[in-house]
Amino acid sequence: MDSSEFRKRGKEMVDFIADYMENISMRKVTPEVEPGYLRQLIPPKAPKKSQEFSDVLEDVEQAIMPGITHWQHPNFHAYFPAGNSYPSILGDMLSDGIGCVGFSWAASPACTELETIVMDWIGKMIGLPRVFLHESGVGGGVIQNSASECVLITLLAARHATIEQLKNRFSLPDDGNFVEDGTILNRLVAYSSKLAHSCVEKAGNVGLVKMRQLEVDENYSLRGYTLERAMEEDRRLGLIPFYVCATLGTTACCSFDNIKEISEVCSREKVWLHIDAAYAGNALICPEFQDLIKGIENVDSINFNPNKWMLVNSDCSLMWVQDRTQLTDALTVDPLYLLHKHAENVVTYLTFQHWGIPLSRRFRSLKLWFVIRMYGVDGLQHYIREHIRLAKLFEKFAHNDDRFEVMGKVTMGLVCFRLKGPNIMTQKLLRMLNESGKLHMVPALINEHYVIRFAVCAQNAEDDDIIFAWRIIGQLTEDLMNEKRL
Ligand code: PLP
Repeated sequence: MDSSEFRKRGKEMVDFIADYMENISMRKVTPEVEPGYLRQLIPPKAPKKSQEFSDVLEDVEQAIMPGITHWQHPNFHAYFPAGNSYPSILGDMLSDGIGCVGFSWAASPACTELETIVMDWIGKMIGLPRVFLHESGVGGGVIQNSASECVLITLLAARHATIEQLKNRFSLPDDGNFVEDGTILNRLVAYSSKLAHSCVEKAGNVGLVKMRQLEVDENYSLRGYTLERAMEEDRRLGLIPFYVCATLGTTACCSFDNIKEISEVCSREKVWLHIDAAYAGNALICPEFQDLIKGIENVDSINFNPNKWMLVNSDCSLMWVQDRTQLTDALTVDPLYLLHKHAENVVTYLTFQHWGIPLSRRFRSLKLWFVIRMYGVDGLQHYIREHIRLAKLFEKFAHNDDRFEVMGKVTMGLVCFRLKGPNIMTQKLLRMLNESGKLHMVPALINEHYVIRFAVCAQNAEDDDIIFAWRIIGQLTEDLMNEKRL
């Protein structure tokens, strides 16, 4: 494809995407295909000769679209939103066009520098103390692929810092006495609430450390006293508490751990505190949610995903640390072929390869920059507040119907509801709703209660979508009750 054909095909692709978005509500929200459907539609071997763009695009409609779950559909209410917007798509298109790989400042200065600037912008938008910003010269923010990666990286950094500190304390290098890393590793223990995302448990597995999942209170929140008690028990057993992952906006029910209390415990115990705010952290751009991060000055690191709830396409998970050297100490490996003339000066500041696991990094700050500039902070706040307003509208419908109960507080764009009585009825209702192809939702288990999670997801969601969803839920509940009576 040469540039003149690219101009033509690029315009066709933009039209294809705009048509898809404009007409998405005419499609069924979930596909009706069975596993393996695509192997019957696509040849088992790659084509030897080049094919026409138009043929490929035709196959998108014939083969790919039937297998798509339409996350941008107004009747998609599963998981959390998948961020998407035209400015973000355009920013990502430019990133693909420039095609640079930004592991160090020299590898593409603008790529690295824009990332530091945009991370500082957003750090200020969500009310982080200055020490978390690049401009402080102490901490800073970095874009990672996923919240899971942010949790893993901070756990690895905390693990490294703890092992080094204890090794130095107990080793006597001159007479050959030294403590093996593994001896300390064996005794490390990390904590989260039992409602933390599964990626926290996974990080513990990958990092080879014990992970304790702690009980929550009646608001599904991890409290300081629970953490303190667990750490005391573990220290008595000879274990070494080293890392806590608190959650703002749990996946199951969007509950909030008590950061103020937890941060006081961690600061007293000298334990790394990370906040995973993958979804709800986006709402911190609205000043009315600042209370959720009371105690942030005693937090070591925090992440949230604009690719969930700030109109930015995947992948885009943001992570800030108070002390950048704790990341770079754990993750720096410097081969000769990656050094450059500014490497000495900027080794910790502008060399993002030392802030995460991959070497190669896309120019992801472009899409963020486009989105923030083209919506403005006001526009993004409006988008978040609209989703919350619509979730509260749905909550009102559920409250007004005495067959249902709402579990947990509705603070953000998620409502967890269930039919009163045994779990099996809610399970059946969810199956019927999803099989109808009219709505898509997923379940969660909260204290043994099976709930349906209703998440407001579509960018331009409106009252009518909520009214429609409640009408379908009402109809299928009626059918379910009639079935039971027969
Ligand atoms: N943390 C929380 C609270 C989440 O809700 C999720 C996903 O929904 C994750 C982590 C995992 O996010 P990612 O897919 O970016 O790894």
